[in-house]
Amino acid sequence: MSSVAPFSLPGRFLRGNVHTHSTESDGRLPVEEVVSAYRGAGYDFLSITDHFLDRYGFPITDTDRFSDAGFTMLPGAELHAPRTEVSDLWHIVAVGLPRDFAPTTPEEDGPALARRAKAAGAFVGIPHPGWYSLSLADAETLVDAAHSVEIYNHGCQVMHDKGHGAYLLDGLLDKGHRLSTYACDDAHFKAADFGGGWIELKAQSNSPEDILEALKQGQFYSTQGPRIDDIDLAVDHVEIRCSPASRVLVAGQGYLMSHSSGIAMTRTSVSLAPLATSPWLRVIVIDDTGRSAWSNPIWK
Ligand SMILES: [Zn+2]
Ligand SMILES: [Zn+2]
Repeated sequence: MSSVAPFSLPGRFLRGNVHTHSTESDGRLPVEEVVSAYRGAGYDFLSITDHFLDRYGFPITDTDRFSDAGFTMLPGAELHAPRTEVSDLWHIVAVGLPRDFAPTTPEEDGPALARRAKAAGAFVGIPHPGWYSLSLADAETLVDAAHSVEIYNHGCQVMHDKGHGAYLLDGLLDKGHRLSTYACDDAHFKAADFGGGWIELKAQSNSPEDILEALKQGQFYSTQGPRIDDIDLAVDHVEIRCSPASRVLVAGQGYLMSHSSGIAMTRTSVSLAPLATSPWLRVIVIDDTGRSAWSNPIWK
């Protein structure tokens, strides 16, 4: 048995959201009110990722003044450029961008823009694939630049019933692309879209540099509420410690899966026999209200 990252790493978990909006683009609340909403809800870090478009003045909002010993802001933006198979514009989350990141040029397409963001030091995410029908073929043009796929976008779930991205994550994993996966709320504060999905990240400290590095390394899990305390991997089974759960699923290649169900389970062993041929697995913890927590993919 061996505990897997990030649970095996030193430090404590930091609660964070890496995709949200303010009045710097199409959000309803000004930056200071967005920050205080997350601080008040117990978050440890936040990136405000306003739409990086000409009509908003290509904002990378200056949020440094909201960082202090107990709360960390990371500069970010949601980048846009032509085009996917079915959408005029790509949506690309970039966290840890330099404030002087140059505006998009007319010649630049989504994958080129994502590569420029990664080269500038950003954590690059593929947001809400289900919301705008991003195809596996689209996503494969971006995998050299992207670190992570949104597995859950609370705003897209509340507003459109299209918040889930597991189909794209698992499709990429099945093609051998080792991306991580994150949840967010993409809150615009125009509906009940705040706080329904976030990440719990293990970093060396809460400095912006350490948080950004832990994001890129995938040292986090995603959740709508349930907590994952540990994932211990053996050859033939996996043990999960978590907040009280009704179901613990282990997903793998294609439709391969294994699971355990019960009442208020906090320590669960799930057989890996059905996943013997899968090169990867991921753990999903579901509580009695239907809320989920998702581990990052674990490669055998
Ligand atoms: Zn978007
Ligand atoms: Zn967004």
